[in-house]
Amino acid sequence: MADFKKLEPDLAFVKGVMDAGGDTVNRCYQCATCSIVCPLSTPESPFPRKEMLWAQWGMASKVSGDADVWLCHQCGDCSAYCPRDAKPGDVLGAIRANAIRYYAEPKALADMMSTSRGMIGVGIASIVAVLIMGFIWSLITGHSFPFPVTEDGKVEYHLFLSVIPIDILFLPLAGFVAFVSYKGVVNFWQDISKGAGLGESYTGTMPAPSLSALLKKYLVPAVKEILAHERFKKCGQTAERAKGHKWVLWGFVFLFITTSLGVIFADVLGNIFHAGFLHSPYAFWHPVKIFGTIGAVLLMGGIWMVRTMREEKTKEGILQSSEQDWNFIWLIFAVGASGILSWAIRLTNIPYIAYPIYWIHLGTVATLFLALPFTKFGHMLYRTTAYVFQAWAADVRAGQAGFGLEKPVVSPSETAEAGQEEEAGETGTKTE
Ligand code: SF4
Ligand code: SF4
Repeated sequence: MADFKKLEPDLAFVKGVMDAGGDTVNRCYQCATCSIVCPLSTPESPFPRKEMLWAQWGMASKVSGDADVWLCHQCGDCSAYCPRDAKPGDVLGAIRANAIRYYAEPKALADMMSTSRGMIGVGIASIVAVLIMGFIWSLITGHSFPFPVTEDGKVEYHLFLSVIPIDILFLPLAGFVAFVSYKGVVNFWQDISKGAGLGESYTGTMPAPSLSALLKKYLVPAVKEILAHERFKKCGQTAERAKGHKWVLWGFVFLFITTSLGVIFADVLGNIFHAGFLHSPYAFWHPVKIFGTIGAVLLMGGIWMVRTMREEKTKEGILQSSEQDWNFIWLIFAVGASGILSWAIRLTNIPYIAYPIYWIHLGTVATLFLALPFTKFGHMLYRTTAYVFQAWAADVRAGQAGFGLEKPVVSPSETAEAGQEEEAGETGTKTE
């Protein structure tokens, strides 16, 4: 007699998907048109039909263990062709928002950052933390608080917070974000490994790639593909979003380089040498300034393109934008705008305007840091992991990876040489 398994639908999960913009999920009648028209779905990783069914039935563990959810770029092509107007692209977007909350710890912070009010609350708390640190720093340095100026009346932000108090504020925050992100990604990897049915050893352990194979063979190509937006470009209905998205991503890359250069100049070299160009404020020609300006322009230009496209496509009914989508867009906008304004207004030397904008800038940057594992920013973590997993799982299924089976990467010429040698060997045996 066949075995039957009773399904226990997770109604909280269904509600979470519906609240996050997937309220059309129950319209789906499984015709599979969406999986056929999706430009990113492949025979090995077909989606989004099966995810629609799992979401309808409240199969939270199935969905959380599904890497395919993260291969979707919400282009809306499937939604345009769905005969039931079930908007599968938006449902997958809502599933991703829930997955981020599922893997984030503490949950209370994830819930808070998923609402506009919560996000504003975190932003205000961050600005207060900046002010408290500025006050403590003024007690140590003797600079006036909260509008310190130089003897000749110039606004210089390092008088309010120099490198040391900024490090004291941001390094623990970065450590916390890195820890939560790492835990989320590891748990996600375990779930998608189980979900993909890659098999377990007799001791119950799941196959896992070695660190060197993970980095060289899978992570580096995945990052290159993401930076070039190879898959995003295949989207039809919202193709122009790829451009804005790419600008934002490269904006972050440039700002990451800016921060790293800032740390090298101010934290490392600045503590050894006392040359003026190692310390802020930096001149226009300074690498920190050049990278920072390019990053800010890319970030602001890209986020403006994304915002405009979202608004248009939402009006056309091709794309549904959730509160979380807008929260993240406005957060990036606030970081970019406050950064550019705090730089420009500093030049006017009006402390009562420059400093409040600077506090807002530091507060929004701290909020953006914190947003990584808790908001749509988490796409960076989980989509990259899904790309890596897709390539690795294909190798495991082909018997080329898993449980130490990773084969060294060989070039086509080496493969041809090996084939010739084998052939020569076989001929020799026959002759004998
Ligand atoms: S989401 Fe629409 S297109 Fe996809 S299977 Fe359901 S009804 Fe068909
Ligand atoms: S939104 Fe685009 S990428 Fe996502 S499932 Fe639909 S067609 Fe595929």
